[in-house]
Amino acid sequence: EKLEASHKSSSKTTFSFEYFVPKTSQGVQNLYDRMDRMYEASLPQFIDITWNAGGGRLSQLSTDLISTAQSVLGLETCMHLTCTNMPIEEIDSALKKAYDSGCQNILALRGDPPINSNKWEACEGGFNYAKDLIKYIRLKYGDYFDIGVAGYPEGHPEEKDIELNFKYLKEKIDAGGNFIITQMFYDVDNFIDWCDKVRAYGIDVPIIPGIMPITTYGAFLRRAQWGEINIPQDFLDKLDPIKDDDELVREMGTELIVGMCQKLIDSGHVKHLHIYTMNLEKAPLMILDKLGLLPTEGEYNGAQEAMLPWRKSL
Ligand code: FAD
Repeated sequence: EKLEASHKSSSKTTFSFEYFVPKTSQGVQNLYDRMDRMYEASLPQFIDITWNAGGGRLSQLSTDLISTAQSVLGLETCMHLTCTNMPIEEIDSALKKAYDSGCQNILALRGDPPINSNKWEACEGGFNYAKDLIKYIRLKYGDYFDIGVAGYPEGHPEEKDIELNFKYLKEKIDAGGNFIITQMFYDVDNFIDWCDKVRAYGIDVPIIPGIMPITTYGAFLRRAQWGEINIPQDFLDKLDPIKDDDELVREMGTELIVGMCQKLIDSGHVKHLHIYTMNLEKAPLMILDKLGLLPTEGEYNGAQEAMLPWRKSL
């Protein structure tokens, strides 16, 4: 019976939620409550916690959040880990904490530049690229962790050369990465084209699209601009006339993102949606509800059994 349920749910598109580290202890408590409620309401396959590049207090909180979510709330977790301006001791301690808490998934990243500088600089004796961190994790922990890497369907703001970006992505996979989570995007046709090119490059690991809900018009424009993400004309045509009414923007935004996700699912390229929650509850759940991906009573057990996209069945 279990097998049947698992088979049934594995044909359904699965999903996961990304959260960032709140700045206050009250914020952390609220986040635990929210993660728990969202888990109960939807059964994501895993949740992940971002990492503040450069280390420090907030990265300590990342490991605490991972540890509690994994071992107290019982969620499958994925810890982001950057190697920008981070002493190796801090990387060692983060990996050990993840290992000790039972977390088995790391999203290995280079990291964004620190807030007060717009250019990234390698730290002496540290790692230069995400691939260096991946090699290090494989060296220290063998196959214990599944390692995700970042992918950029619209290119990386620091590297416009599309071909080079495929080469660098391949290097991360060859170094030991075994799944890809992408930067947010709105242009589905471009994403599908990019997936085909990734495959043509000989990369065969799961590609998981990063989905950013639209909550306010300002945030929608800002995020697209920051990541240099193309906004399709129909998004602008539908959102611009209602930009001053947050509620209408949320409704229309949800409709647009649901349409986009449905197109991704229908393309056959996508088996899993990774939702950037921005620590908000309503928008992600509304999107999943409209896509028909929230578990029904009968599917509850089966959904929990479904295999993570990057774990091969035995
Ligand atoms: P890399 O793959 O190492 O690439 C970095 C840059 O170097 C790129 O421009 C690339 O083209 C270039 N490059 C790579 N290899 C070489 C080479 N051999 N020679 C020359 N150039 C090279 N940031 C955070 O700080 N915290 C987070 O939690 C976080 N989570 C993220 C999650 C996802 C899904 C994504 C897509 C991004 C996330 N980021 C996060 C942002 C990320 O850190 C930045 O985009 C960063 O600028 C690049 O990180 P990377 O791991 O892709 O780096």
